[in-house]
Order: sequence, then C-alpha cells, then structure tokens
Amino acid sequence: MSELRQLLGMTSGIAADFLESLGERPVWPPATVDELRAAFGGPLPQGPMEAREVVAGLAEAASGGLVAEPGGRYFGFVIGGSVPAALAADWLTSTWDQNAGLYVCSPAGSVVEEVAGAWLLELLGLPATASVGFVTGCQMAHVTALAAARSHLLHGAGWDLAHDGLYGAPRIRVVAGAKRHGTLDRALRLLGMGEPELVPADDQGRLLVDALELDDRPTVVCAQVGEVNTGACDDVAAVADRTQGSGAWLHVDGAFGLWAAVSPSLRHLTRGVERADSWATDAHKWLNVPYDSGLVFCARPEAHRAAMGSRAEYLIFDEDKRDQLNWNPEHSRRARGFPIYAAIRSLGQQGIAEMVERACAHARRFASELSGLGAEIVNDVVLNQVLFRFETDQQTAAVLAGVQASGEAWMSGTTWDGRAAIRLSVSNWQTTNADIDRTVAAFRAAVAEPVRAG
Ligand SMILES: *Cc1c(COP(=O)(O)O)cnc(C)c1O
Repeated sequence: MSELRQLLGMTSGIAADFLESLGERPVWPPATVDELRAAFGGPLPQGPMEAREVVAGLAEAASGGLVAEPGGRYFGFVIGGSVPAALAADWLTSTWDQNAGLYVCSPAGSVVEEVAGAWLLELLGLPATASVGFVTGCQMAHVTALAAARSHLLHGAGWDLAHDGLYGAPRIRVVAGAKRHGTLDRALRLLGMGEPELVPADDQGRLLVDALELDDRPTVVCAQVGEVNTGACDDVAAVADRTQGSGAWLHVDGAFGLWAAVSPSLRHLTRGVERADSWATDAHKWLNVPYDSGLVFCARPEAHRAAMGSRAEYLIFDEDKRDQLNWNPEHSRRARGFPIYAAIRSLGQQGIAEMVERACAHARRFASELSGLGAEIVNDVVLNQVLFRFETDQQTAAVLAGVQASGEAWMSGTTWDGRAAIRLSVSNWQTTNADIDRTVAAFRAAVAEPVRAG
C-alpha cells in the first residue's frame, strides 16, 4: 500500500471515529483556550514531519476544542450538518483540487454548477432564467446581489459605475426591515452604500409593509424570509406589490428561510419571492452541505454579469460555457458545486422537503415541551426557530448556562425586545426525537438547578 493510500485510509478512520463519537462527546468541548493553545502551539517547525504524524497530531490537538456541530443536539445560531453524500463529495472536491474559476480549469467543475444551479432554481421556485453564483455563504451572496443591484440602478440613472466608480454617483436608497440580518449591513458597507434606511418590524420581526414608502429615487428594498431568532418571514408578495412598477430592486435574504419553498406545506411562507430581482441563501445551513457554501441568484443576469464579470488578457473565456468567475466575487476558488450536487442528488426534492419539515416539527415539539417546563415561547414557531425565555433574565441566563454546561446540547442566547432570551435552531438532518428528549431532559435539570452566573 502506498504511503498516500495509508494516509488517506488513516484519515478516513479519524473522520469516522469523530462522526461516530457525536452521540457521546459533550456538545460543547471541554478544553480551555489555554489548553488548546498549548496543544497546537510550539515554535515554528524547522524541518519536515511525516504526513501521517502531522494529521494524527492535528486531530489530537483539535479534539478537545471541537464542537459537535455536525451532530443532532447542536442548536446554536443556524448551523446545518452535512448529509453523508455531501460530506463525501466535499472530500472529493478537495482531492480533485479543481479551480472553479474558469471552464478551461475544470470542465466538470463548471458543468456541475450549471446542472446544480438549474436544480436549485426549480427547487426554490425561482425563475429558470435567473443567474446563479456559488459563493462562500450568504454574506457574500448579499455582496454579489447588491453589487448587481447597484450596477443596474446606476446604469438606469445614466451613471457608468464600472468606469467612474461611486464618486459623485447618484445616491441609491436602501431600505430594509429593522430586523434584517447584520450581514446585509456589512455587504452595504463593503459596497460603499452606507447604512440602510429602516422600516419598523412587528413583534415577530417582519417588516411592516405599510411603512414602506417608495418614490422615484433609485432604490433597493431588502426583504427577509427567515428572521434569525424567530424564523418569521416578511410578506414578500406584499412587498413585491409595492416595488412593482417603481423601478426599485427587490432583494431577498433567505439564508435558511428560502428552503421553506421546497415544502408544499411551508411554501406559503415564501409567497411572492419569485417576483424579486435577487436572492441570497445558504447551502451550508438547511441543505446540510459542509461549509463554505452560499448561493446567490439574480433575475437580471446582465446586471449580475456587469457587476462580477472579469476580464484579463491571459484568461480564456468561452461564451458557450459557464466561466464561474463571471458570477462570483472570487477569482480562483473551490469547486463548490460538487457537494451541492451530491446533497440534492442524494435527498431529492422530496427528501429535502422532508428534512425541512422534520426540523420544523422538531421545533414545534421543543416549543410544547419547553412551555411545559415553564418557558414562555416568544415567537410563533412557523419554521425551525424557537425563541423562549424564563421568568426573569437571571433565570433565563442561568438555565441556558446549565444546559450549555451539561454538554447534552448547545444553543445560544440573545436579546429580544430588550430582554434575555434563548434561541434554538433545528437545522441538522440528523436531529431525532431522542435528541429532543435528551435536550428537554437537560432543560428540566437546569430549571430545577440553574447555574448561577458569576
Ligand atoms: C446566517 C444568516 C446570514 C449569513 O449567512 P452566512 O452563511 O453566515 O454568511 C444572513 N442572513 C440570515 C437571515 C442568516 O440566518
């Protein structure tokens, strides 16, 4: 057996051991930051080390600091796991090491994106003619989409953005709901577009459509399906009624919520999204593809291309084929299409719908079990997010700390309406009823004996 084959065999063993330990290991790892620094640290290596020794040592050093994020009892933020086919395809993506910038660098890496891109548009109920970019995450999906919006609106105002830049350009008005995600603001900041003008939101975090006023200024309206704490979805159809005919660009942040469109029973939450000009979502959240994998779609491919298209003398473009760097902010990059293709191929439309519906059913069950323990459920559990709190902020913090310290499950806290709350997101394909039982038991114990903060 070659040394390389031995190395890969050993590594797949380490990977399988980790995945099989997810049911047992504490969800939040025990090592302190000092222990991790000591485990990884040491002087700059001066000479070579055998690859197998490197990998075994790395796995050993990391072990005490790895969060059981791929497992079924991690409910923090909005974090998906990896369905097996996507994980394996991700290994091959690294193995093949294709540069997914140009067709000429990897015909397979280009065509897999054409095919997966068309599947995604159909799955999510978006126009088949939309352009697609495979980006690192929803953050860069926003950057790409808003760059397209900026290019389109300034072109309409008679301004040549590519040539003249933003200096002296007409101002673009950007309007978003008060509960938009922070990545939207950062995208606008990166693009030199300033802070958004905020429209008030209701108690679930949905923007109040009646407060949305449009005029003839170049405008981007940002709607959201899936508020990060509550899962609430803006009434995009009503927003689209307002933007229609106004010349405004409608952008939708559907980082996880857009996946509701795959399910016949949840699709109503995304009503009207197909009328937007651009959409940002993630594959690494609810599609359960490994990081880093986000998606941007644009109903105006020419604006998308105008914003992202790249030209350089030494590059070889072929207009009949997909050169991915024309749709991405990246130049050289990982062939992200392979794991997405594998996830869709392995689950199918029905499997994805079931995965999404299952997560929502788990969230509803959490809400009912937790209210049985005395929690106040703050949100309408319409998707996979549950937002809740106990009687006082102190009690909420102490119960959360107790559950986190138990190692049985992990989720994060937040502030909602000025008060402490706990947010729980079911986004992992592996979460079972037994995982919910264990997590509820950890809550029951923490309610009985909360951890005093400080
Ligand atoms: C997670 C999230 C984002 C950011 O996505 P990344 O993949 O972390 O860049 C944006 N919007 C919403 C609503 C999210 O939940």
